[in-house]
Amino acid sequence: MVKGYCVRCKETREMKDLEPFTMKNDRKATKGKCSVCDCKMCKIGG
Ligand SMILES: [Zn+2]
Repeated sequence: MVKGYCVRCKETREMKDLEPFTMKNDRKATKGKCSVCDCKMCKIGG
């Protein structure tokens, strides 16, 4: 399970609906949603 920082919960939460993407600077990142509040989250790295 991938974890990231949720700005709404202000805590580290598990991410769901994970979707890898590449940022403008060609770095890989993963976007998803907070498993608790559905807030959009983004994590740098694959
Ligand atoms: Zn949250």
